[in-house]
Amino acid sequence: KLAIKYSADVNKARIAALLHDAAKNMSIDELVKISKENYKDIDEDYYNSPQLLHGMVGASIARDVFKIEDDDILNAITYHTTGRANMSLLEKIIYVADYIEPSRDFPGVEFLREISYTNLDEAVIECCESTIKYILSKKLLLHKNTIEARNYLLIKKQ
Ligand code: FE
Repeated sequence: KLAIKYSADVNKARIAALLHDAAKNMSIDELVKISKENYKDIDEDYYNSPQLLHGMVGASIARDVFKIEDDDILNAITYHTTGRANMSLLEKIIYVADYIEPSRDFPGVEFLREISYTNLDEAVIECCESTIKYILSKKLLLHKNTIEARNYLLIKKQ
C-alpha cells in the first residue's frame, strides 16, 4: 500500500517485504558467524545489539539463496532493523511498513499508521523517535544508524 501511495516499484517492495525477516529466527551465534563471513567492517554497534544483524544476514540470504541482485532491495532488507541516513524511497517504505504492520500493537501505532500515508519522511522520523524512546526506557544500546536516520531527515526539513 505504501509503495502504491508513494509511486515506488511495487514489485521491489513486495520482494523486500517478503524477504526482510529471512534471518529473523537465526540464533545470535549464527547471525554473528554469517555476517562476519559476508561483510567486512561491521561496526561495533551491531555486535552490541546482535539481533540487529538479521537485517544484513537477511540480505545475504536474499542475494545467495533467492538470487536477488537489486541493490535497493538488498539495502531495504539490510537497513530495516536500524534505518540509516539518506534512505532510498524503498528503504523508507520497508522501514516504516515493518513498524506499522497489522500485527503491531503499541501505544502510538495508530498515529504512525496515519502519518505514514500523509508524509513518509515524517513517518520515518517518528518511527526512529519511537525506537529511540523505547531503547532509552529499557536502558538498551542504541545503534547510531537510527540517530543518523533521524538527524538526516530533520536537517533536510530545515
Ligand atoms: Fe526484522
